[in-house]
This record gives sequence, C-alpha cells and structure tokens, in this order.
Amino acid sequence: MDLLSAIGMVTKRRSDFFSQAKTLAAKCKDQPTLEERMKGEAIALVKGYRDKLMKWEEYERTLIDKTLVSALAAVILGVGTDKPEQKLEKSWPVIVGDMLPPLLTFLAETKTYIDSGVLRPGDQTLDFADYNLLGAVPGAVDIGIDELENINPEQIGELEADQQRAQGKTWPSLAERVSRYLATPTFSFFNLGQYMVSQDQGFKEMRRVAKRDKKCCIDCKQYDSMGWQPFGELPIPGKGCRCYDRCRCFLEYR
Ligand SMILES: [Zn+2]
Ligand SMILES: [Zn+2]
Repeated sequence: MDLLSAIGMVTKRRSDFFSQAKTLAAKCKDQPTLEERMKGEAIALVKGYRDKLMKWEEYERTLIDKTLVSALAAVILGVGTDKPEQKLEKSWPVIVGDMLPPLLTFLAETKTYIDSGVLRPGDQTLDFADYNLLGAVPGAVDIGIDELENINPEQIGELEADQQRAQGKTWPSLAERVSRYLATPTFSFFNLGQYMVSQDQGFKEMRRVAKRDKKCCIDCKQYDSMGWQPFGELPIPGKGCRCYDRCRCFLEYR
C-alpha cells in the first residue's frame, strides 16, 4: 500500500479509531498495562498470519489499525480527563505522520520476505513461546541499547543480520518488530498526552529526566544534563534520541 492511499484510508476511519482507542484506554487504565497488552497482540497478530488464519491484506490492515488505535489510546491515558476529545484531534496528525510512513516501509519489507520465501507462512520451526520479545531469537546474543553507543551503524547492521532479527526475517523476530509499532511507542504517545495537558495548564519550563541505568543512551543523558529548559524546547521521550521507542525518560514541568 502506498502512503497516499493509506492516509486516505485511515482518514476516512478516523472517528472509528477514536472510539476504539477510548474503549482500549478504558480497559487498560494505565500505559504499562497498555504496552503489555499490545506486546501480546503483536505476537498474536504475527502468529495468526503465520498460521494462515488471515490473508496478507487482513494482516496489513490490522497492523495499521492497531498501531493507530494503540497510539491514540496512549494519548488518552496521558491526557486523563482534561479535554481528551480536543487532544485526540490535535495528536492525530502527529500519530499518522510519525507512524504511518515507517510502518508502510516495514510492511513492504515484510512482504518481500514472504514473496521470496525468507518468511514462510505455516513454518513453525521457531516457537513464539520460547522467544523473549524484548530479547533476541533463542541462542542469539542480545544487543543492549547501551552497547550501541560504541558501535557504528554498519556494525549494528552486520550484528543484527547475523541474528536475522533486524529485518524480521524469522517469525518471532517479526513479532518483535511489530511490537515496536504496537507496544513500545505507547510510552512516547502517553508523554505527548501529558505534554499537551501541561501546555494548556501554562507551565513555563520542562526537563527531561533520564532513567540512569546502563541502557540509557548518550542523547538521553545529554537532555537530562540540560536541566530545566523553556517549555517546548526539549523533545518528548522517544524523540531526538537513539533509544527511539525504547526510551523511558520522563518529563517534568513547572
Ligand atoms: Zn536515549
Ligand atoms: Zn530516554
């Protein structure tokens, strides 16, 4: 699917996504629960396609739908009771702009693996149950975010290619990549919701506090060390850092 037709398709169904997101947010109640739930849905979706319970077109549409609904639900959880409707409207173009282009590229990539037989529907050689979604394929070496600092992108590519996980070349590694659309971005969109509320409340300053564990990247440490900055001057967690969707910095306002 090309970007223009995808944008056309999701725009038509916008209010449907909004109401699905409200239901999902009400069910989950907080962001960590939403993230966990979406990890499970990532596995279920990939498994469903692998086990031939759905056709490609359905897999594609479901992944697009769930990505948007999950992001919208995360915004609702971040906003709370402070005019959620208005903030959903405001976050919609951000969510579509952030998520749809990379998602379509990812889907096109997956399709080439299927067409060329790298990924074979029905192939159950690797079991999802043995697979830690946040780790690597069984037996492979996990690459921690902290280790990425000292490795150049080419080396990362080689390492990930060795593990066949970077591009979703095995069903479990595909599920991991799917969860990076459905699950991990919820943290950033939750923060976007809180950011919009803080903006309305007239806060003048913000700071980005890094989780000071060994997985924290140099960008996040840098934002952390900047301390209080004028409101809007710092990117929200998950943006402007090489942790991307895995960033778990938090924002404070005053
Ligand atoms: Zn980072
Ligand atoms: Zn971070």
